[in-house]
Amino acid sequence: MLAMNYRGPLRVRIDEKPMPKIEHPQDAIVRVTRSCICGSDLHLYNGSVPDTRVGMTFGHEFTGIVEEVGSEVTKIKVGDHVLVPFNIACGECVFCKQEMFGNCHESNPQATAVGGIFGYSHTAGGYNGGQAEYARVPYANVGPTVIPEGMDPDDAVLLTDVVPTGYQAAEMAGIQPGDTVAVFGAGPVGIMAARCAWLFGAGRVMIIDEIDYRLEFAKNYAQCEAYNFRDMGGDVVQWMKEQTDWLGADVCIDAVGAEAAGNAMQTITGRKLFLQAGSATALHWAINSVKKGGIISIVGVYGPTDNLVPIGNVLNKGLTIRANQASVKRLLPRLIEHVQNGVLNPKGLITHRIPLEEVSEGYRIFSQKLDNCIKPVLIPPSARM
Ligand SMILES: [Zn+2]
Ligand SMILES: [Zn+2]
Repeated sequence: MLAMNYRGPLRVRIDEKPMPKIEHPQDAIVRVTRSCICGSDLHLYNGSVPDTRVGMTFGHEFTGIVEEVGSEVTKIKVGDHVLVPFNIACGECVFCKQEMFGNCHESNPQATAVGGIFGYSHTAGGYNGGQAEYARVPYANVGPTVIPEGMDPDDAVLLTDVVPTGYQAAEMAGIQPGDTVAVFGAGPVGIMAARCAWLFGAGRVMIIDEIDYRLEFAKNYAQCEAYNFRDMGGDVVQWMKEQTDWLGADVCIDAVGAEAAGNAMQTITGRKLFLQAGSATALHWAINSVKKGGIISIVGVYGPTDNLVPIGNVLNKGLTIRANQASVKRLLPRLIEHVQNGVLNPKGLITHRIPLEEVSEGYRIFSQKLDNCIKPVLIPPSARM
């Protein structure tokens, strides 16, 4: 089968790889119909996630048609068109029982923090991902969810990560009616978080980034205010205070994470030095520009240790920091309803539809922010018939 193949930092290509096989009675094999490239994949692509092994296939946002199931799989059957949450979760452990499907204790033997994630290095379990013609889906009774009748697969594929991650960012932020919400990062997840902030009753939503085309897109898509931090006279915190009667935003959402640093490492301009601090900078800004007693919600991806965070200010301002990988399966029923009712329009984020065979070009366009790219989706040959 064709599959994306990681060859080392900034080198991915399409290759012929062996078909995945059922390795456990609870596995399923799916024939992939859509597979997105995620902002967090760029972190792998840049070589900045530990233990990202040559030969791995990335891709944690995919849909597919069930080809084969193991003998213990009862919840899905051959022929079902399913969306596959990025979390790999056993469904049985103490964390899964609390619906913390992003923190499964069984699916990632390498760590006690994050659970297994498709295509996200051996630090997240070493599973191959869905940027391929076929993928093996472990614990197939837990994650994969049949795409409801009539739902566009382009909507469904974004329910595997972007929509739940953006939604959970807004949920964790504890938004109260009328709150001013500041979202740092106008990538797909930040844009979705801004959109979802309204669903929780926000009175004002601002999104902050440095890339004008993304800000323009965010403004239209999420119907929010959008600002370039390069226009803020060098002091985002001061700017935010001016916007908020000198109190600060009620909640800040960090949808940047270390991704900015990953991008920055590719460039050699002085600008990038600023951004390299910038991964931590988004969190600095969030901590320093949120109101006393406010909530910081983090969904940007950070490594286990980061980054000179001003923890003293967290204490002195009485802040609450909430953060997690989205628990996709927990959120799906509500989010599916929102899509079906037209409240959310996930596929509106997709700007690029790229044949799987051109995966390396997809990574190049997305990582270099070319061609006004917001969200690329890879489409395997069999899904283009
Ligand atoms: Zn993702
Ligand atoms: Zn579990």
